[in-house]
Amino acid sequence: MSVLIKGGRVITAADDYVGDVYAEDERITLIGESLDVQADRVIDAAGKYVFPGLVDPHTHLDMPFGGTVTIDDFESGHVSAAFGGTTTHVDFCIQPQGTSFGDALEQWHAKREGKAIIDNGFHMAVTDLRDGGSLEELASLPEQGVTSYKLFMAYKGALMVDDETLFRTMQVAADTGALVMVHAENGDAIDVLVKEALAAGHTEPKYHALTRPPETEGEATNRAIQLARVAGCNLYVVHVSCRESVEPIALAREKGWDVWGETCTQYLFVDCSYLERPDFEGAKYVYTPPPRAKENQEVLWGAVRGDVLSAISTDHCAFLWNGQKTLGRDDFSKIPNGGPGIENRLHMIHEFGVRAGRVSLNRMVELLATNPAKLFGLYPKKGTIAVGSDADLVVFDPERKVTLSAATHHSKVDYNLFEGTEVTGTPEVVLRRGEILMEGDELVAKPGSGRFVRRARFGEELTSRAAAVM
Ligand SMILES: [Zn+2]
Repeated sequence: MSVLIKGGRVITAADDYVGDVYAEDERITLIGESLDVQADRVIDAAGKYVFPGLVDPHTHLDMPFGGTVTIDDFESGHVSAAFGGTTTHVDFCIQPQGTSFGDALEQWHAKREGKAIIDNGFHMAVTDLRDGGSLEELASLPEQGVTSYKLFMAYKGALMVDDETLFRTMQVAADTGALVMVHAENGDAIDVLVKEALAAGHTEPKYHALTRPPETEGEATNRAIQLARVAGCNLYVVHVSCRESVEPIALAREKGWDVWGETCTQYLFVDCSYLERPDFEGAKYVYTPPPRAKENQEVLWGAVRGDVLSAISTDHCAFLWNGQKTLGRDDFSKIPNGGPGIENRLHMIHEFGVRAGRVSLNRMVELLATNPAKLFGLYPKKGTIAVGSDADLVVFDPERKVTLSAATHHSKVDYNLFEGTEVTGTPEVVLRRGEILMEGDELVAKPGSGRFVRRARFGEELTSRAAAVM
């Protein structure tokens, strides 16, 4: 199967030119001006942008949480991703406490079997180094292409690890070259605040944010940075939501330390007032860290523009409002934490980042595709348009207007965080390894065609860049 994408405006993190892209047998083999080649399929991209397929480094498909399971599995989640231009994601394999890492991985591989449409890798979320996985087993994961370890510093009594587990994992990562990812919030302090709020009869969704103040995120971010320095590992802080955690990351990067961070689409748009929407609508915005005071949004835009934060992910973790979020109708702490977003990252960042003049097209591609690919061992196979790279491509119509809505999105979830938002620009054709996944409004790909990707160890390019700064 060969595909020729003709006359599009090809945009990578570094380049911007009009040309043809030719792919054969899953990979890009030729790029040039007016290529004189035959192809099984020719796509006219005149007037369109051609982006590399986007990489989402942070998603939770088919994940048990709070007595329920996220509503999107690897099929519906992947269809939703494809319609948003995402062709690769890295999902969290969560080690059930008392379970070995091998058994956990086996469970997560089974979830994607026969369902996957886009390509994916797994991070290992370490929850237990005492009765489940051992340090030796943890050290062996990179050989299986699982090259990042995630730790939760919050969710006490469930996923949270203590500092010993965090630090021991960091030491293993320093040896194996894996990247350590942290959910940075002080879970002990939050647990006290939640108990106090409930004892005082405060049960509404807005208390989700009031019991997780931004200082608890700032404290944990700084703690993780300092411990990573002692252990000598590379650190990536997930879902940075506020000034209190942007500042320690900015300081670390200024010093040339091996620290990176991401924010997620929703933190740039949804603020804490959404939690006060009446009739339990506020529960739709219960995710963690919580939506913050609005002034944090410009801090985050500044951080993604200035490379304090290197990526924008979605943290897609979808629960039905009606039937799942409602588990916490009388107790905000029982509302499953998570929000949807895998489909609308490009729509939102293109509209309010690029079109609003906050980031360039190149920087958008870097934040949504190239940097996640580099940080998570996928580059240059994924995350760019180059000869030899996988033919993961998005033909994007920058003129077409769409309205984001639960009525038209492809996730199974019954609401959209950006309901009613009008944007100009949407994917027209999305290809994964040269195969068309979606075209116009039609799904083309078949479940089971997505592949598990064994990721490389933490990228040397970024390590040497950080070293050069020191
Ligand atoms: Zn998450």
